[in-house]
Amino acid sequence: MTGFVGQDQFLSWGRVERVRQDVAAPAFRDELKGLLAEPDDRSLLAVGLGRSYGDSCLNGGQRLIDMTRLDRLIALDSARGIVLAEAGLALGDLLRHIVPKGWFTTTTPGTRHATLGGLLANDVHGKNHHRAGSFGRGVRSLGLLRSDRGQIDLASDESGLFAATIGGLGLTGIITSVELELAPIRSAYLDVERIPFGHVRDFFRLAEESVDSHEHTVAWIDCTATGNELGRGIFQRANWLDDGDLVPHAENALSVPFEAPNALLNSVVIRAFNGLYWRLQKSGRARQRMHYAAFFYPLDKVGHWNRLYGRSGFYQYQCLVPPSAAEAAIEELMREIAASGAASALSVLKTLGPARSPGMLSFAREGATLALDFANRGAPTLALLGRLDDIVRQAGGRLYPAKDGRMPADMFRAGYPEWTNFAAHVDPRFSSDFWRRVAR
Ligand SMILES: Cc1cc2nc3c(=O)[nH]c(=O)nc-3n(C[C@H](O)[C@H](O)[C@H](O)COP(=O)(O)OP(=O)(O)OC[C@H]3O[C@@H](n4cnc5c(N)ncnc54)[C@H](O)[C@@H]3O)c2cc1C
Repeated sequence: MTGFVGQDQFLSWGRVERVRQDVAAPAFRDELKGLLAEPDDRSLLAVGLGRSYGDSCLNGGQRLIDMTRLDRLIALDSARGIVLAEAGLALGDLLRHIVPKGWFTTTTPGTRHATLGGLLANDVHGKNHHRAGSFGRGVRSLGLLRSDRGQIDLASDESGLFAATIGGLGLTGIITSVELELAPIRSAYLDVERIPFGHVRDFFRLAEESVDSHEHTVAWIDCTATGNELGRGIFQRANWLDDGDLVPHAENALSVPFEAPNALLNSVVIRAFNGLYWRLQKSGRARQRMHYAAFFYPLDKVGHWNRLYGRSGFYQYQCLVPPSAAEAAIEELMREIAASGAASALSVLKTLGPARSPGMLSFAREGATLALDFANRGAPTLALLGRLDDIVRQAGGRLYPAKDGRMPADMFRAGYPEWTNFAAHVDPRFSSDFWRRVAR
């Protein structure tokens, strides 16, 4: 009997592609071997909570293994700060266990609704990249189940397969368990400072000035502003507090219950929102004690907010440009977006530090990274993204596969020259829509 059931409900976060896939959701790790052994020509892909925006977590017409029921904590050394868990454990669930004991993950993305396997397979980065590097740097070891080699335990100092699996987009096999080094905290709260800036060039000055003094930095950008106010925004910098208040987050009750019939987040609404947000925040510096959930995960306050983009979904565009080209390239991107009239609801700019990411295909490296959300309006949206690609290529930059559903194959290959070495580690039975698009 097969464990796979045909369905079309598994969507990535951008909700642009709607594909039918056979999905299995095993409850025990022992079931995974059986799923891999099923005689079938279709390829396999393990997935987590589908928080990747494009097609790296999709396998249209093929098979998916939903890992989210394999979510057990296996061991916690609360004296040394080391945790071993099944790969389907959500970051938010892990935090509820470890925060009261004075630990946090070494870094975190902007959502807690992501599994450890997903965080590892995308080698995600956070607001503290300049201090901690990417998520993979905190991975001590991992369990990997392959169709050709069975179960393998990989430690960080071994073999190309470990480096291929970190940031390896789920293509090297099923990550069954993850052992993480944790970071000590003495409070669940941060001391957060908000600083408005009038032009995107001021962002770079603030980022530079904050590298040594602040563990976390990030900026919101108003990408609808033009002229002397191009890329105006709010810079946020923060450090953990020391007050012993180790209360973990609570889950939210608020959620968007169904898909909006049309995009509620259209450019008129987005323009109004950006202008209003700027007017509310621009008055001056502000300092605030903030819980980690409010600081790291503001978008998690509303469940399924992606449904506000309606049936056509949206594209996220996240690029990274090297330090030498960063300021000019980000300004050019801002000008192109402002001129297009296609407003991005949320634009986030941050600088990444020099720490080397451990993965062969890891996105994070030194430079500036800009993330933008655009409602999918079909050809005009794709044309704009194509023009942004030209600026990023010219600057020697690259795009983030976790956010991508459309980059041309040559752009991926130029941005990730290690992809041919990586390809040798791909499990012969594994594939994804993303991989078929960029690697064939
Ligand atoms: C609101 C929001 C904010 C975000 N902020 C950031 C950010 O600041 N920085 C950042 O880097 N990312 C960010 N992301 C992206 C998100 O962190 C990543 O896409 C993350 O990997 C999603 O985890 P997931 O469990 O949903 O994995 P999925 O999206 O389901 O899968 C991601 C990849 O991991 C693979 N995978 C998942 N589980 C396994 C497994 N057990 N074995 C093998 N492969 C597996 C999949 O095949 C796929 O290639 C954000 C996303 C959202 C929605």
